[in-house]
Amino acid sequence: MNIPFNELRSGYLAQQSEIDAAVRRVLESGWYILGQETAAFEVEFAAYCGAAGCVGVNSGTDALHLALRACGVGPGDEVITVAHTAVATVAAIRMTGATPVLVDIDPNTYTMAPAALAAALTPATRAVIPVHLYGHPADMDAIRTIARECFVIEDCAQAHGAQYKGRPVGGFGDLACYSFYPTKNLGALGDGGAVTGNDPELLEKVRLLREYGWTPQERYVSHIEGVNSRLDELQAAILRVRLRHLDANNAVRRRLAALYDEALPAAVKRPSERPDAHHVYHLYVIQHAARDHLRARLAEQGVGAGIHYPVPVHLQPAYQAGQLRCLPLPVTEQAAREVLSLPMYPTLTETQVRAVAAAVTGALQDAAQT
Ligand SMILES: *Cc1c(COP(=O)(O)O)cnc(C)c1O
Repeated sequence: MNIPFNELRSGYLAQQSEIDAAVRRVLESGWYILGQETAAFEVEFAAYCGAAGCVGVNSGTDALHLALRACGVGPGDEVITVAHTAVATVAAIRMTGATPVLVDIDPNTYTMAPAALAAALTPATRAVIPVHLYGHPADMDAIRTIARECFVIEDCAQAHGAQYKGRPVGGFGDLACYSFYPTKNLGALGDGGAVTGNDPELLEKVRLLREYGWTPQERYVSHIEGVNSRLDELQAAILRVRLRHLDANNAVRRRLAALYDEALPAAVKRPSERPDAHHVYHLYVIQHAARDHLRARLAEQGVGAGIHYPVPVHLQPAYQAGQLRCLPLPVTEQAAREVLSLPMYPTLTETQVRAVAAAVTGALQDAAQT
């Protein structure tokens, strides 16, 4: 058996003629940075998200960094997020000079626990970043109610197309940040990211920040201190193709997830989907105390599995020098020991899902015997 954890090449081949045509169009246009493709993608992606506007940037990390800066976050401020996330979320806060404050998660959705957020607020809290982890929306109404004095910036890097109470994620805070890293539900063939939102002033600030504070009327004059974080035309053209397939691909992920739910052994904790949520299964994450055994047995049988994430941010070597403030994180620490991500991508087949589920069943049986 050979079922890799992820398979990007088959994803390209499934859309090869459309992607090749888009790439060729850009190559022949003679315009490679911030042109028509980026502008068109920004309009199309904003419409998809139900947002008033979108600014394409170089990565999801930059999207978070620039969104925070647009909200005026800087040294002396605190920004609350979760420890159970991609390190990018916390790295972006540190890039502004603010202090990340890490709170615990809900054990079923693995997203920010509203009660933990309430306990972490201080007069220095300037912003809150809920992460729609694995493709499942955080509990935005509860979070917004608790954080009503702060900016709320949604980290949607794993949740393109996910919904909360019937509306797309990204519309529940002041700004929303996306990554188009190749493995994401909407992935480029290189780096990319975007900030979406409904407040024209905040979006304009992000637009200035992404290119040294220049305005379209006055290039080479910096009105505010910015950075270089542009989305390039090739990636934008590829993303326009992929956006057209996003809903169909998310539907495939949901079908494969339902099949896993049905085929996995009872002892495995499956992902849950709150009744008000539409999960897009960026990752299909199970939980079991014998996780390490399970992963090793799957590897022996040719099944790739990942861990998202093995070391919570507050326990990582780079963050041991007092850069963070942490609240108690028992749910996060248990998740780090027990979660396992099974293969999940639109070109995975139902037969492969059944084979992975059977391999999990076999691995748990021999765990019980040893
Ligand atoms: C991928 C990811 C990011 C960062 O995106 P990059 O494009 O890799 O910089 C941020 N937050 C979360 C939750 C992610 O999964």
